[in-house]
Amino acid sequence: MSAGVGSNTVSGACNNGGFLKGDRAMASEMKRSFCRICHAACPIDVEFDGDQVVKIHGVEDDPLFEGYTCIKGRQLPDQIHHPDRLREVLKRMPDGHYEPIPSEQAMDEIAEKMGAILAEHGGRAVATYTGTGGYQNAPSDPVARSFHKAIDSLSYYTSVTIDQPMKRTAVMRIGAWAGGPQNFTELDVLLAIGYNPMVSSFAPFGGLQGTNPFTTLRRLKDRGMKVIVIDPRRTELASQADIHLQVKPGEDPALLASMLHVILSEGLHDHEFCEQWVEPGHLEALADAVSAFSPEYASERCGVAADDIVSAARTYAEAARAHAGTGTGPSMSPHPSLMEHLVISMNVVTGRFLREGEVGESMSVLQPAAPVRAQVLGPIDPLRGPASRFRGLRGYGGEMPCSTLAQEITEPGPEQVRCLISNGGNPVAAWPDQKRSLEAMDALELLVVIDHRMTQTAQFADYIIPPRLSLERADVPPFMDRWFREPYACYTPAVVEPVGDLMNDWEVFWEIAERLDVDLELPGGVIPHGDRPTDDDVLDLIYAHSRVPFQTIRDRNGEVLPELRPTVEAADPATSGSFHIGLGDHMEELAQVRGEQSGAERMEGYDPAVHTFRLISRRLKTHLNSLGGELPGLNRKNPTNYAHMNPEDMADLGVVDEGLVKISSPRSSLIGVAKGASDLRRGAISMAHSWGAAGPTDEKVRDIGAPTNRLIDVDNGYDTITGQAIQSAIPVSVVAVTEDALINA
Ligand code: SF4
Repeated sequence: MSAGVGSNTVSGACNNGGFLKGDRAMASEMKRSFCRICHAACPIDVEFDGDQVVKIHGVEDDPLFEGYTCIKGRQLPDQIHHPDRLREVLKRMPDGHYEPIPSEQAMDEIAEKMGAILAEHGGRAVATYTGTGGYQNAPSDPVARSFHKAIDSLSYYTSVTIDQPMKRTAVMRIGAWAGGPQNFTELDVLLAIGYNPMVSSFAPFGGLQGTNPFTTLRRLKDRGMKVIVIDPRRTELASQADIHLQVKPGEDPALLASMLHVILSEGLHDHEFCEQWVEPGHLEALADAVSAFSPEYASERCGVAADDIVSAARTYAEAARAHAGTGTGPSMSPHPSLMEHLVISMNVVTGRFLREGEVGESMSVLQPAAPVRAQVLGPIDPLRGPASRFRGLRGYGGEMPCSTLAQEITEPGPEQVRCLISNGGNPVAAWPDQKRSLEAMDALELLVVIDHRMTQTAQFADYIIPPRLSLERADVPPFMDRWFREPYACYTPAVVEPVGDLMNDWEVFWEIAERLDVDLELPGGVIPHGDRPTDDDVLDLIYAHSRVPFQTIRDRNGEVLPELRPTVEAADPATSGSFHIGLGDHMEELAQVRGEQSGAERMEGYDPAVHTFRLISRRLKTHLNSLGGELPGLNRKNPTNYAHMNPEDMADLGVVDEGLVKISSPRSSLIGVAKGASDLRRGAISMAHSWGAAGPTDEKVRDIGAPTNRLIDVDNGYDTITGQAIQSAIPVSVVAVTEDALINA
């Protein structure tokens, strides 16, 4: 079946805008699209030789990206045409080997098995996990959610609850400003805590996004913006910082509390804003709770100079316009909800929000229109959702916490999950606590994996469904749409004709729904039954109430829509919202932090004499989670997820570059390949996640890396609000080992 490949041809005569030069002007054909390897959604021109994609070019006349792409996006030709790419449905046979079968047959068999599980055990027995791949495909998540409503299943999970669930819950608990943050391009100070968009191409809302980050940062610095970075590593962003607080891993809460103490004790907060919008008593409660975190105390605890803490706090608070935000570093470390609460509190007490009459620079074009007002929305309690069977956790925002899913699968009971659809994800590589994940994959009655390659998870699947890849789909960027620093229209038709028996993610859910005879309801109505609709039909239904008519977004692809910049309206006179920055549980947690010697004490089994290092998470330019190793242009640059260490630590341990180290947490051990990195502070060891084998040993570490999620324990030191496991700043021991360890580990 045709995926509805659009022309979207970029002709040299009409659309070159001066960017087709030399031999590119002679290229056979060029089609405009956007990259969906990661969230950044860089516009690209796809160069063809016949039906082969041969090269990816940045779009130099794009108003936001100005030609920017990264090395991952430039590998799209290899991804599309990779000889090992799955192009037929694979079914596991009784002896364990896989046989190709037609997708029609697969859908019949899956629907029959799933229907039997639903009939016998009810909706919760069927779960979906939507991973990173599903999030770069606009219809994937909405249709999967709709499918779960249709089969009355609460068992919906996404990768959001692996790394940054507190981004939602913290703002729900503290309150949200309906006028939005101060405009990024007008900031005087950017405070970036544990994020590095030069590599991750991602940042918190209001921060430096992956939209052409190098040029954007240079321009803002030239204009006078100061940059403060808190990170244990001198990252690409930290190397541009005016102040770099090279904090000990896992001690960010103490550092933020100290900065808040400086701001509040010196009266540097926005008195008028706090008077009007902070719940009575909460400013005082916060000031009291952080008063125990003097700069001298925080200096000792966090390993940074007290003067630098004071200077960073004053620089941030005295700026007219500033933004503080966190990335996955602190969000995956101990005390993650508290940490997010403190960062939002930094923005609240200094009033970092657009006020009545100001004009915002950013606005979603895909979301429905909503009032932009100078007032607080909420707070609301996120913890009213359905109960998980584990650790007293609850679902929120239409999904359940991913850290419990393996146990939901393995633990018997009436609500046990028996069927899992992995939708563009790789649970064995990505879920925290790999031992439990492996047990879960074995325990499932039915595992359906939507993936284009044989991953660590796919090798457990009963059915592997090969999807259409990005250039083969019509699409929009559902996440970046909200975070682009201008109202910006981005849409692509499919530009590559798919080869093989491939299905878009949403088509898998639709095909099963057809066989189960249930309706998939989207904002614009039910997806039609009968003949399979197109991607565009489904996009029209998802974005039926978008702020800009969806056809306009198609027509104005690649344009800034300045007419959508919002002017902040006055507060609703009836509003009663206020910021709750002194929440009792977080103030108590601050006292606990003050009583600790180290954040590592959150983990039972931590022994300060043994676990003298902290393993921190690391993003790679060449990989996005488990994606990248299969592409030769990326694999050559990073054949393994190196264990980066400070060279002085390596010398003390007798470890050499490319030597092996055994890294042990209270939960388990792995073998890593050491690499010296003088940009890391001593005592930190930095590795990328989602690598390695689906098993307990690391024989092939030099070729495929080692899984850091083996070191993680979802039951030990978890965040009680979100269930977030400690996945960074993990207390570990590190010793040099020989090649023998690969066999005997
Ligand atoms: S930053 Fe992300 S979207 Fe842009 S080219 Fe790289 S992988 Fe693609």
